[in-house]
Amino acid sequence: MSLHDIEKAIQDIPDFPKPGIIFKDITPILQDPRLLRESIELMTAPWRQEKVELILGIESRGFIFGTAMALELGIGFIPVRKEGKLPRSCSRADYELEYGSAVIEMHSDAVKPGQKVLIVDDLLATGGTAGAAVELASAAGADIAGVQCLIELAFLNPRARLEQNKVISLITVE
Ligand code: AMP
Repeated sequence: MSLHDIEKAIQDIPDFPKPGIIFKDITPILQDPRLLRESIELMTAPWRQEKVELILGIESRGFIFGTAMALELGIGFIPVRKEGKLPRSCSRADYELEYGSAVIEMHSDAVKPGQKVLIVDDLLATGGTAGAAVELASAAGADIAGVQCLIELAFLNPRARLEQNKVISLITVE
């Protein structure tokens, strides 16, 4: 199994969830334990020496990759969720969507000041969601190690919104 096999497994689904969007379907990776293992290994490798203390995974596919990476690194996992889903007191961050805005939340006591955190999601498009997760973690006093994703849609320039952060992607779509 190689990066090329992972890349081949990702399916482009045109016009989902709405016209003009090419949705990157990563479920074939999850379906194949060899591809899933290789993805997790490659996504984790750059951070092994970084003394990361927590993974912040973004709903929902960031939960899958983030939890597996947390197990791999032997550290905890914090879910960053869409508004109204978490049961206890939350901190929140607003961010811009193509039309309108959205909110993500994290439990207020999830991150302690000074903890080194890594933000994980499956895909960076505009970078708005990951940028909001950085904002949430920074407001909690976290030391941001960086952002790790599987796929980066470079043509949407997500790094412009993550300028202060180390960003690593397994697959870059130009
Ligand atoms: P953004 O905030 O624009 O970087 O969007 C990133 C979030 O939306 C991630 O949680 C992705 O899972 C999801 N997303 C955005 N665009 C796509 C796409 N073309 N295919 C799959 N997921 C996407």
